[in-house]
Amino acid sequence: MRGQLKAIIFGPPGSGKGTYASRLQTKLGVDVIAMGDIFREIIGEETQLGRKVKGFVEKGLLVPDDVVVEVLKQRLGKSSSKRGFILDGFPRTIDQAKALEKIANIDVVVLLTVPDRIIIERLSTRRICKKCGEVYNIRYLKPKVEGVCDKCGGQLYQRSDDTPKVIKDRIGVYERQTQPILQYYKDKKIPLVEFKCESIDMPPEVAVEEILRALEKLRLT
Ligand code: ADP
Ligand code: ZN
Repeated sequence: MRGQLKAIIFGPPGSGKGTYASRLQTKLGVDVIAMGDIFREIIGEETQLGRKVKGFVEKGLLVPDDVVVEVLKQRLGKSSSKRGFILDGFPRTIDQAKALEKIANIDVVVLLTVPDRIIIERLSTRRICKKCGEVYNIRYLKPKVEGVCDKCGGQLYQRSDDTPKVIKDRIGVYERQTQPILQYYKDKKIPLVEFKCESIDMPPEVAVEEILRALEKLRLT
């Protein structure tokens, strides 16, 4: 087994980034750094920064790059896993990708592709644990006890940006601002692992196993 994995999990909102990253974390012992979770925490703290961040997140807009990069640097500095990390929700702009390059060398980009209709259906029925951020779905990925997190017993809630209007805006932001990063990494010859999701009720384990096999092939696990 090699020392460290430094991966980006990449894809539109609702493509399963958080769901798969959480399972890869368990299997590989890596740290998962999820920007959306970090921002939701910051919003909860009700500081000046929290109020600023809230304005963007609520509308489905990107938080400004300088704020995001600073927050990421601080979080990476606190990362203690010797197995490495998976970035979920970062980078989301070319400028963020450029800033990341100065901080860490990324081994692989794991790309998740999902048709828009699945994204919309998934996100409208998604629930999140208040305490640990674990992702559930009231139709396709139910917790054992309704409204309660299997992992930590925390209460499940619906994110305020998981409404039809904001979901559409987030997909638009992804297509315009985030997707171009893929070409950027292709040009840099960073290995790409792609998983295509075609059906809404596919169990996460199917994706996770395929991703793990691809990482093994690249000798990254
Ligand atoms: P999604 O389910 O859309 O992938 P996330 O939980 O990753 O959502 O992010 C939620 C929101 O947090 C985004 O819509 C955006 O407002 C903000 N955000 C998260 N990561 C970034 C980032 N790297 N750059 C700018 N804004 C971000
Ligand atoms: Zn939980």
